[in-house]
Amino acid sequence: MSLKQRHSTIPIFMPEMACPFRCIYCNQTVITGSSQQLSDAAVMKTIETYLATQRDGSVVQVGFFGGTFTGLPLAEQERLLRVVSEYVERGLVEGVTLSTRPDYIDAERVALLRRYHVGNVELGVQSLDDEVLQQTRRGYTARQVYAAAELIQHSGMEVGMQMMIGLPGDTSNKALQTAQKIVAAGATNTRIYPTLVVKDTALEALWRRGEYTPLSLDEAVQWTKRLLPVFEAGGVRVLRVGLHPTEGFISGADYLAGPFHVSFRELVESAMAHDALEAAANQLPKDIHAVEVRTSRENMNAAVGYGGSNKRWLQERYSTVRFTVDDSLAGRNMSLAPIQ
Ligand code: SF4
Repeated sequence: MSLKQRHSTIPIFMPEMACPFRCIYCNQTVITGSSQQLSDAAVMKTIETYLATQRDGSVVQVGFFGGTFTGLPLAEQERLLRVVSEYVERGLVEGVTLSTRPDYIDAERVALLRRYHVGNVELGVQSLDDEVLQQTRRGYTARQVYAAAELIQHSGMEVGMQMMIGLPGDTSNKALQTAQKIVAAGATNTRIYPTLVVKDTALEALWRRGEYTPLSLDEAVQWTKRLLPVFEAGGVRVLRVGLHPTEGFISGADYLAGPFHVSFRELVESAMAHDALEAAANQLPKDIHAVEVRTSRENMNAAVGYGGSNKRWLQERYSTVRFTVDDSLAGRNMSLAPIQ
């Protein structure tokens, strides 16, 4: 498969189903709002609508998200996977990805997924610190996560591990260790979500009693900027940083408190670039008045900073600041040098 090929995922959101768990941050009345089945026709319609608008040559997979896929009865999982399987066998879809809980993985489920072209399983891990998991009432331990990951990997599928930051009991160091453990466990992808206080959750009660304080936006950015380099150095693709900006999050109607921002990832990358620029600026002689920042095309927005914040910061120190794309630089690499 060429590196230049475009990859995309047709998202199929699982209908909300009754969940036997009581994770502290989760609003069960929303999650269990309905229990209608996802019909074969609905799955086919989503796939066909997407394929009709697809650009030639892109690699497409189908993703079952938003629920605990492997928590469905096996026959139900098989029914849904069989629908997608026909598209895989016709060469229209490359494979399947899905999200689930780590404790809903066993040999039988893994064998079924494998049989039906599932190539990646995203585990909603949230933390690999047992104390955080316990306080969050997730209902499993870090050991169970590793066991699930091993089963998935041994079958030849990739494993993803989603994590949350700022859960009760979490600290910046624990979040960092979770990221390091995710890398060590051999995950190939991750998503990072800051914890928000949602209405009608156990977390809301804790927050109202003053027993839980969500991260401020700045803290969430500071914590997350320590995680990205760990994943990048470990070769783990970071598929998402921050929650999807749905209408309810943007208006604030869907949560009571916590670090939500529509451009959370940009804030984090901007903060990372700021640190690199500050370190470079501290190495320059004090009598410099004009500087040039060189960086890769992909890193230019981060270098300039969210809303121009890094540029403004440099302009407070230097009378002339120039930003130049340097195609010889890759990734987050940047240089800051005096203009002669
Ligand atoms: S977050 Fe926890 S309680 Fe909410 S649906 Fe998922 S497993 Fe169930």
